[in-house]
Amino acid sequence: MTAADPLDVSVVVIGGGQAGGEVAASLRLAGHRGAITIVSDEDSYPYTRPPLSKGYLLGQTERSELLLRDEQMYRSHAIEVRTGRHATSIDRRARRVGLDDGTDLGYDALVLATGGRPRHLPHPELDGAVNLHYLRTLEDVDRLRDGFTVGAHILIIGGGYIGLEVASVARRRGLEVTLLEANPRILSRVAAEPTSEFFTRIHREEGVDLRVDTRVAEYVLDATNRIVEVVLTDGHRLAVDLVLAGIGLIPNVELAETAGLAVENGILVDTGLRTSDPHVFAIGDVARFPAADGSGMRRLESMPNAAEQARVVADNILGNPRPYDAEPWFWSDQYDVKLQVTGLSTFFDETVVRGDPASGRSLSVFYL
Ligand code: NAP
Repeated sequence: MTAADPLDVSVVVIGGGQAGGEVAASLRLAGHRGAITIVSDEDSYPYTRPPLSKGYLLGQTERSELLLRDEQMYRSHAIEVRTGRHATSIDRRARRVGLDDGTDLGYDALVLATGGRPRHLPHPELDGAVNLHYLRTLEDVDRLRDGFTVGAHILIIGGGYIGLEVASVARRRGLEVTLLEANPRILSRVAAEPTSEFFTRIHREEGVDLRVDTRVAEYVLDATNRIVEVVLTDGHRLAVDLVLAGIGLIPNVELAETAGLAVENGILVDTGLRTSDPHVFAIGDVARFPAADGSGMRRLESMPNAAEQARVVADNILGNPRPYDAEPWFWSDQYDVKLQVTGLSTFFDETVVRGDPASGRSLSVFYL
């Protein structure tokens, strides 16, 4: 750092999601006095994403309630937020970030909180299909909500958190829902079989036509570039009004990679969330970090992970070093059921189940 006192270093944060917004606020709360600039390619000030596929899609949560902090807070704490701006380059030698408007920003510490983007369906003919949706940003949900009319048929591709949360909201909004999962069970990436069985039953009880081991074999588009029908791998044909794909996230590593930072399924960081350049940190969905339990490198796509990593990085920038060693946790809301997960569902020999996946609205699963 060039400033003598860590409280005076200038910080640039790339990415205005949960991680990016939180790191700026944490720095100021800890007494940091130097310049802070957040660069976000979204038009909104930093906001929290979990309600997007829950209360916001349902229409119960207002846009203003999503903001991490109101705009006035950034002004009164001298945090500059450049919305609608894309960082295009990092000159690590000069410690400057180039932006798409031709300006650049100098830094002592750079925080990459670039997040990820939805994986797209591997069908080039669908580029520009007017009723095909992905879900990551406020804008995505505003677009999707426009198609949420009672009785419309939504085809959801992917039985992960996005697909299942959207299915739950769509049923509550009176849509007909078909959900396809390519694997033999839903939630296979994040939960054991009893949890998958439990949520499969709940969704079917709520009226979702949930099909596992199934993909779309063919999309039929009309002259206006609208998907009107799909042919499934099991041979069924379905007429559809809108399609949502929730088939995973691709970490936005390109800026880091071009700058010569170490990247491998995420930006590689150490326990203090420093990249291969000590002046550059990475946090949130894009960061791949060493697990505190010694089980190897991991990258987590979750809001609690992003928020806590932001706090750790703020401390590390301010010269109060500490490792990131938080226990992972997750939650999901589907109908009246709240799924809560602590720890990761990996490396287990057996599960102990309290409750019956085949009946009721409550279940506990312990991984031994
Ligand atoms: P995800 O958790 O990776 O689930 C996507 C599922 O779709 C996977 O099971 C995937 O199988 C399957 N799939 C892939 N291609 C398919 C195809 N062509 N047809 C049918 N199924 C297909 O991803 P996501 O639900 O899109 O969520 C994106 C990220 O946001 C995730 O990290 C998720 O955890 C996070 N998120 C979290 C929450 C929460 O914590 N409540 C809420 C929303 C989003 P494969 O694994 O074999 O590809």
